[in-house]
Amino acid sequence: MALAVLMMFSLEPALTAFAPYHGLLLALPYILLGIVILLSQPFNQGKTALTAVLMLIAFYVIQTHLQSPLADNKTHLIYILLVTLLPLNLLQLHLLPERRLFSRFGSGYIIFLVLQVAWASLVANHFAERDLSQLWDSYLYAIPGVSPMPVLLILLYLGVGFACGSTILKRNHGYDQAIFISLVFAGITFSVFQQAFISSTAFSVAAILLLLNIITCSHELAYIDQLTGIPSRRALETEMKYLGRTYTLAMLDIDHFKNFNDTYGHDTGDDVLKLVASFLKQIKGGAEVFRYGGEEFTILFKGKETAQCIEYLEHFRKEIADFEIQLKQPDVQPEDEKTGTKKHKKQDSKAKPIKVTVSIGVADSFPDHKPANVIKEADVALYKAKESGRNQVCQN
Ligand code: GH3
Ligand code: MG
Ligand code: MG
Repeated sequence: MALAVLMMFSLEPALTAFAPYHGLLLALPYILLGIVILLSQPFNQGKTALTAVLMLIAFYVIQTHLQSPLADNKTHLIYILLVTLLPLNLLQLHLLPERRLFSRFGSGYIIFLVLQVAWASLVANHFAERDLSQLWDSYLYAIPGVSPMPVLLILLYLGVGFACGSTILKRNHGYDQAIFISLVFAGITFSVFQQAFISSTAFSVAAILLLLNIITCSHELAYIDQLTGIPSRRALETEMKYLGRTYTLAMLDIDHFKNFNDTYGHDTGDDVLKLVASFLKQIKGGAEVFRYGGEEFTILFKGKETAQCIEYLEHFRKEIADFEIQLKQPDVQPEDEKTGTKKHKKQDSKAKPIKVTVSIGVADSFPDHKPANVIKEADVALYKAKESGRNQVCQN
């Protein structure tokens, strides 16, 4: 949003400064949106690719059919069609499931877009001679002299924007952001349509944001653990390359987690992993936490010796051990190994809250500073914690 405001204010001076490159500015959205489509493939961002295809078609229509004044009937009609169809298509894309561009779904969607363009051009040619200003002024409530976009259409953009924006707050997927970005910059373009070079600038900025979005999403895919939302083992391995001389590393393992899964089911097991991760995120003392794999986590204290970290780890261990987990619906047990059927446990209305404990092994970066060796040391300490009865922090 800040970028959109910045773009609006810096457009005039930037256009004057880049006057010799206006040709490039007109080609830029095609190039950038083309790159978005190509890059979406290896990163499995099908919906972002389809959003870029939609924006590409919209930009093409603007450049080839909307360069004459809106007073011209046919231009006006094409403008109405584009301004209305683009947010509706973005809304439809928002509601569709995520699929690859090069798939039956992707091809079907492209055919649908081509048919839509063909239908729109038939409508535009058929009604080219009719005066539509009445429709525009009376039914869509255009405010004269304010913006070429009537109030009803502004409401449409706000409605679609609200639908996409509220979804971003809930699930924050890359493609939701891509659709929202496209809607915002298309809306800006149409609301100040008479401004020179507005479409090429706004569509270029939108394409750059789509590119950044793809890069951020793929980074998250590689470095953030999907289940718990904390950095993954790959992130830890990258972090290890840049460690200083002094640090403390702790390995954490949930106690009897296999039993837990077998008793309460894998989904409840997943919920417990998320719960442990949420407690881990709150450890004080500058701790950085990672999911090492399975039910094991790593806690890293940079610039701290073990003695300085124990109290934070003890506090965390106690917090977990004291926490009472209320099961949602303890009615379905995991599959019976022999029969393959799900065992149904009688619903116990007075089900007792359950508890989990963790064992932690801590190692110092002295005397051996090699991270791989420090991890091994922490593992030995963890083994010691398990051997000594679990639910404790042990040092090597
Ligand atoms: P110990 O106290 O000795 O650590 O016993 P344990 O049962 O925790 O140890 P073990 O290594 O035998 O079992 C780990 C279990 O963690 C096995 C596996 O089913 C479970 N697990 C690993 N990753 C996940 C996951 O992502 N979700 C769930 N629900 N369970 C997982
Ligand atoms: Mg384990
Ligand atoms: Mg375990």
